[in-house]
Amino acid sequence: MIGVLALQGAFIEHEQMLRSLGAECRELRERRDLDAPLDGLVLPGGESTVQKKLLADLGMFDELRRRIAGGLPVLATCAGLILLAEDTTQDASPYPGFGTLHVRVRRNAYGRQLGSFSTVQTMKGLGPFPMRFIRAPFIEAAAPDVDVLARVDGNIVAVKQAHQIALAFHPELGRDTRVHEAFLNEVVAAASARRSA
Ligand code: GLN
Repeated sequence: MIGVLALQGAFIEHEQMLRSLGAECRELRERRDLDAPLDGLVLPGGESTVQKKLLADLGMFDELRRRIAGGLPVLATCAGLILLAEDTTQDASPYPGFGTLHVRVRRNAYGRQLGSFSTVQTMKGLGPFPMRFIRAPFIEAAAPDVDVLARVDGNIVAVKQAHQIALAFHPELGRDTRVHEAFLNEVVAAASARRSA
């Protein structure tokens, strides 16, 4: 069961894509939605400042952080990347993020005018991939345990660290399902690692 954080932003598109690949999804809207176990988590794009405040106000933050830190596989896009990042710049939010991904992210890195654009760039292991950016962040710095999956104009826009996959762009808004397939493979791998532990 994949939990999709459904407080705000582009979560429905993730659910549609995951369901088209045969995965079961549950929307996470309040604390009790976290009572049952999850095999994976999607942190969608949207507005990270709003999402951080809602996570705190709804009492969901600590439990989600605990699960991510415990190795729950995560797919994070755009605002979701900002939520995962250990460090952020241009972020005025007084609320914390999960801080489990060892990167420094620059919020609204492309400015307001150039914030939205599309491009096709190579993703490690996947080849050319269509990327849609919407008032996107990029990653300014990544620790050695972070695998850089893609860059645009030299800036890091996709990474993987253990079971966390994080992207500055929005694969759920396109038709290419390969990132979501890679995430589901990660979910299966994490589940079988848990069973044999
Ligand atoms: N600019 C948004 C933020 O700072 C992210 C945009 C997005 O998720 N498409 O949270």
